[in-house]
Amino acid sequence: MKTAPSRNRLPELLGVLRADESDPRVQELLHEFGTEPSSTRERSVGEPARQVRRLRYRSGGEIILHDGAVAGVVLHVAHDARHVRLAEWIGTGNRATLDDLETALGRKASFAGLRTPYFAVDRGFVTAVFAPDGWNMPGNLLRLTITADQPGLVPAPEDDDCPGCSDLLRRSASGAVDVEATVEALSTAAAAGALKEDAHWVRLDDLLPLQASGLMERAESQLRCLRCARTVCFTLTRDGRPEFQYCSFDQARRRHMSPVPPVEQWGDATRLAAEEQGMRYVAHAAGSWFLVRKGEDLYLDARYSYSGLIDSSALIHLNPSEVRLYRKSGHTFLSRLAAAIHNSAPYQKESPYFARDLYRRPEGARLRDEVSGAIAEHTWIAQQRRGDGER
Ligand SMILES: [Zn+2]
Repeated sequence: MKTAPSRNRLPELLGVLRADESDPRVQELLHEFGTEPSSTRERSVGEPARQVRRLRYRSGGEIILHDGAVAGVVLHVAHDARHVRLAEWIGTGNRATLDDLETALGRKASFAGLRTPYFAVDRGFVTAVFAPDGWNMPGNLLRLTITADQPGLVPAPEDDDCPGCSDLLRRSASGAVDVEATVEALSTAAAAGALKEDAHWVRLDDLLPLQASGLMERAESQLRCLRCARTVCFTLTRDGRPEFQYCSFDQARRRHMSPVPPVEQWGDATRLAAEEQGMRYVAHAAGSWFLVRKGEDLYLDARYSYSGLIDSSALIHLNPSEVRLYRKSGHTFLSRLAAAIHNSAPYQKESPYFARDLYRRPEGARLRDEVSGAIAEHTWIAQQRRGDGER
């Protein structure tokens, strides 16, 4: 770190976080940004709904309010018509690289995911957003966002305007959530490749029949937006109060849901036939392997790991002699086979299981989703959402 920051007005920005719009500190900052916002955008987000207001000023400053309280302050730096002079706020130029920001803020950046650098400062966080070609070249910095919540643990306040996922909740004329239309909108977005369904939760196609069965208190589908990486959690509840929430990866996997009852209890004839033809759970050994079947064929999903860097699994179609041994000695044989797979380092071509690993084939991603769906009720994620993993 070279020189101390010549100018540091971060405390002013941090001081308004979570404060009400009427708070004098917020009013002062708004005044600093300009007399009138050059644009005001309002939207209702999710269900239960949150009111989001974005007040952007010609000076390049912006305040984002959630239900009337400050959720984030954005300093727009990009060289369009409206941008701040960063030198006046944190003592570095608008063409700052990540190194320059580290010098100005007097600390190293942390990362949310691989692409989002941020700085933990007193009582808050400063996230730096750069153009896609990177943070080492001057002129790529687009904006700094100041939040009270740690980036990555909750979605960024700017994400509520994501073109990929922000307009999928449908309401009827009365304002109530239109469940069928929302399922339809989510399905369409998933089919178009904007969202990806998480196979560990209820399939979107199963949500309505499951709710109609009355067997589940909460049935939830989760879909990840490929653009902003938020997870849409759409939940149908027995008491008829649906929820539609945008979550970070971390928040999404911590959500609770009771086990999905066997499909025989709620599926119609078509769904049952599809289930019979699809991948089905047979057995598992915690932390080691899953056995699934498709028709008469048996597949072993065997976990392997190496020195903390590699932790994945291989999918092996059991050959006739392996099936015979499984019929003879059951789980003992499968555990032995899983250990042999792990010990052979199946991520290397030399392993006899490398070529047999169906996850390495072109259809691997689809197979992994099918297996995830089949074993969804038997994974640690299922334990987490039932609350078994806590206490
Ligand atoms: Zn999105």
